[in-house]
Amino acid sequence: MPYLTTIGFDADDTLWHHERYFVAAKARFVELLAGYGEPEMVGSRLHDTEIANVRDYGFGVKSFTLSMVETAVSLTKGTISAAVIGEIIELGRAMLTHPVDPFPGVRETLETLKSTHRLLVVTRGDLFDQERKLTASGLLPFFDEIEIVSDKTRPIYERIFTRHGDGPQRAMMIGNSMRADVVPAIAAGAWGVHVPSELVWSLDLADDPADSQRFRRLPDVAAVLPLVEEIG
Ligand SMILES: [Mg+2]
Repeated sequence: MPYLTTIGFDADDTLWHHERYFVAAKARFVELLAGYGEPEMVGSRLHDTEIANVRDYGFGVKSFTLSMVETAVSLTKGTISAAVIGEIIELGRAMLTHPVDPFPGVRETLETLKSTHRLLVVTRGDLFDQERKLTASGLLPFFDEIEIVSDKTRPIYERIFTRHGDGPQRAMMIGNSMRADVVPAIAAGAWGVHVPSELVWSLDLADDPADSQRFRRLPDVAAVLPLVEEIG
């Protein structure tokens, strides 16, 4: 089996918390729209808008903010006040400034792996926001390359692991999203390591791959060290 030279890490909810800020913003949004529908209905309308808008706006906070505005306008049949729209926009803006604290063990793990492997970040989301978080996290020096992509698909992983490594066969992708980090990386020929997060967005769910030879599920990022040693 070819040895491992390149390791890709997802960023949000793999290296630091992120989904919790979406969950909090959604809760506040539901409160703001309380006069126009039951919390469950408002939440599900926002969810549907969000999923539909990924096609046009991609992933990230800006896309989510537009989805909140669109949902508010449509739920209130255009009668939402400019003041509430302003609050929604502020809700989105606040998400772009949250603190970025790496999960316990992440820094030490990257420090160890850096001496033996090429380390990449592969993340979706807004370019500006992802760059800010990487800088704020203090983890930037550990990575050889940063790839901020519009989506995470098999061809994207093939391209990234070929461009920055020795091809997918000698690469591993680690992340909290089965659908974006694990399944397409394995389809590309890489190892796919799932590190489940406390909170997960519905669009990040997927079944475990049927061919599980290169699939692992680990409790945290630090648990990658013994696996990398085992693979060699
Ligand atoms: Mg993630």
